[in-house]
Amino acid sequence: MNDLKSILLPGVDNKRPLVIAGPCSAETEEQVMATATALAEKGIKIFRAGIWKPRTKPGGFEGVGQAGLPWLQRVKAETGMYVSTEVANAKHVEEALKHDIDILWIGARTSANPFAVQEIADALKGTDIPVLVKNPVNPDLELWIGALERIYNAGIRRLGAIHRGFSTYDKKIYRNLPQWNVPIELRRRIPDLPLICDPSHIGGKRELISPLCQQAMDMNFDGLIIESHNCPDKAWSDASQQITPDILEYILNTLVIRDTKQSTENLTELRSQIDLIDNDLLDLISKRMRVSREIGTYKKEHNMPVLQSARYDEIMQKRVILGNSLGMSTEFMQTMWEAIHEESVRQQIEIINS
Ligand code: PEP
Ligand code: MN
Repeated sequence: MNDLKSILLPGVDNKRPLVIAGPCSAETEEQVMATATALAEKGIKIFRAGIWKPRTKPGGFEGVGQAGLPWLQRVKAETGMYVSTEVANAKHVEEALKHDIDILWIGARTSANPFAVQEIADALKGTDIPVLVKNPVNPDLELWIGALERIYNAGIRRLGAIHRGFSTYDKKIYRNLPQWNVPIELRRRIPDLPLICDPSHIGGKRELISPLCQQAMDMNFDGLIIESHNCPDKAWSDASQQITPDILEYILNTLVIRDTKQSTENLTELRSQIDLIDNDLLDLISKRMRVSREIGTYKKEHNMPVLQSARYDEIMQKRVILGNSLGMSTEFMQTMWEAIHEESVRQQIEIINS
């Protein structure tokens, strides 16, 4: 899968993070234009706005529908930003393409449904629009990868994944539990796939946006998709998690982006030291085993039992104290010496039975 940033978006540089920002929903033409203009002034290059909104219960604001698509065209024309929106069925894809939307994303509820994703994939055939696939609401990596594969198999090569957290019954700190191990495993399985974090839907509240963005950067995510509204308190959906363009700029400016190239070089040096030390460790352990086998021979000749528990207790106690004084935990020292002792006993028994 190709690099979304370098191929798709001329004018959007490769610097991390790639930022997509805009309101949860397009509400009115005025709200869309006011937010987009402010974001463009802050240097944001990709605008987001939900046109069709998946809502948990009926009766709420379900998006303005295709009437909002010309507003996004106006954002493109007047600010020069790329525009993105969510699609949940073939009709949405068709309308979005007709209105020159630049990037589509598939929402978490849709990613969980293979029939819906396949319908979207079929509607995308013959186009080369970039598509971002949000994780399904449940922490099922195979389902997430399956959704990405369906879109890939339709011929879409500019693909990315959005991590937006996972639904839980118990909402404590997060609206959607991050379970970072899932996107980390996705990165391991598909290393070239751009990975974007959605701190807005993970956190569900404004004060969590900044720490979640930093965490995503520390985990080497490529980008961030952040909900920003010109007047967050008056937002028609997800009011508690949206931030003003000013706050967004502040958060982005305070992010610490670690230099991955630099640290890899330093790491290479440190890792070769670790390799040497591991070799020394193995040499020493095998020497220890050789001595232990000599003890085994002695025990055999003198008809002594292999296990001398007083000696074992003494070794364990001394090693734990020594290890503690060197900054290692009691639990680690016990586990390590149990393992060494077990192998010693196994080798002595081999000798006694030979
Ligand atoms: C959204 O991005 O506004 C949205 C509905 O997100 P999700 O699909 O992650 O709930
Ligand atoms: Mn939202």
